[in-house]
Amino acid sequence: MNKIYDVAIIGAGIVGLSTALKLQEKGKKVLVLDKEKSPGTHQSGRNSGVIHSGIYYKPQSFKSNLCIRGRELLIDLMNKENIPNRIEGKIVVDNDIEKVITLNKRAEELNMDGVKILEKHEILNFEPNCKFNSALYVPQAGVVDYKVVTETIAKKFGSLGGTIKYFQKIKTINTKNNIKVLTSDKETFRSDFLVNCAGLFSDTVAMLDNINPNLRIIPFRGEYYVLSKQKSHLVNNMIYPISDPNLPFLGIHLTKNVDGQIEAGPNAVLAFAKEGYKWSNINFSEFSKTISYKGMWKLGKEYFGIGISEMYRSLNKKVFLKEILNYIPDVDLSDLKPRLAGVRAQAVSSNGELIDDFVFEDGNNSLHVLNAPSPAATASLAIGEFIAEKVS
Ligand SMILES: Cc1cc2nc3c(=O)[nH]c(=O)nc-3n(C[C@H](O)[C@H](O)[C@H](O)COP(=O)(O)OP(=O)(O)OC[C@H]3O[C@@H](n4cnc5c(N)ncnc54)[C@H](O)[C@@H]3O)c2cc1C
Repeated sequence: MNKIYDVAIIGAGIVGLSTALKLQEKGKKVLVLDKEKSPGTHQSGRNSGVIHSGIYYKPQSFKSNLCIRGRELLIDLMNKENIPNRIEGKIVVDNDIEKVITLNKRAEELNMDGVKILEKHEILNFEPNCKFNSALYVPQAGVVDYKVVTETIAKKFGSLGGTIKYFQKIKTINTKNNIKVLTSDKETFRSDFLVNCAGLFSDTVAMLDNINPNLRIIPFRGEYYVLSKQKSHLVNNMIYPISDPNLPFLGIHLTKNVDGQIEAGPNAVLAFAKEGYKWSNINFSEFSKTISYKGMWKLGKEYFGIGISEMYRSLNKKVFLKEILNYIPDVDLSDLKPRLAGVRAQAVSSNGELIDDFVFEDGNNSLHVLNAPSPAATASLAIGEFIAEKVS
């Protein structure tokens, strides 16, 4: 019989591996299983690379608390492990000064140092090409390559004695004599406890463990363009919109990544497969589950127009360009090259709500991370710390 681990974790993304590291640091014997060949293949390696400050999220929510704590832990890790990053702040723009003032109140509530409202001439000191008239400066924001962070966490976990097994797609989960028995197409694994960090498939994995969550993971693709080198002087750091609280992931931003390239995006297009990185990636079984889900019907009815315009922008580069030109001038179609897209795992409730906060659900000797969208990369080490505390 295989050895019995204290905890088995499904998913070698940044959340699964951060959880593994924090549990291993507590002296647990931890096994991480992933269907891919390396860490961070999906959301964790295909995102905007922004280290979020925590300003956007409702105070005392999981997102707010875990983002603020996670950012601290991430900075500590990046310093100790020499992970390239830049923390030079961002400006959050809107021509409606009232929205800027409201966001600033949130910063005050959270005691965030150095956040300030900028007038037009001050905006131009930070971003000389920005077209907006009012903005909030948020010095805590930064950029990093989360794929590198995920790989570093995987190495650290391995060096503490943790085990990661790749090419193991978990297909069944059973509980026998209080032991979790996980089976992939190749092997069977046993553990006292299971943590589900399967990202886009976290709802499916929860159902394997006899959980019937009141939500489904709906895949929304986020596409990006990279500006040509000749235009990279147009953005110094980051120009972000103030997002609609009901649709937090809408609205593209301009970000100088750790390599100095300017990225514009992401949009939000319903994907035809959980890992549907292109229009041509279609999985009929997954897509039919998405569109037959009651919550998706309700969501679609409410946001039909927005959904269509996001799709139109995805198919029409000129529309994407128009949105970029709202922020900065002098960009042409020839300046835009597509970048690797990502797919967000967004939980939607059966009432058709986009679930905003992180969701953790307990099972029988198990814990399921059922909603970990942005800023979960920033928050990952704090999510790991929180789960490790709960499991211990
Ligand atoms: C477009 C986009 C932009 C984003 N921008 C930011 C940002 O700027 N800042 C930020 O903080 N966050 C951002 N996020 C959010 C962040 O990337 C995610 O919240 C985070 O990566 C989630 O990590 P995860 O480990 O939960 O999921 P994932 O990285 O998706 O990992 C899940 C893993 O589970 C594995 N898996 C699934 N099913 C099985 C199975 N049955 N058996 C075995 N393995 C399985 C998968 O192969 C995968 O490796 C963004 C996300 C996207 C998509």
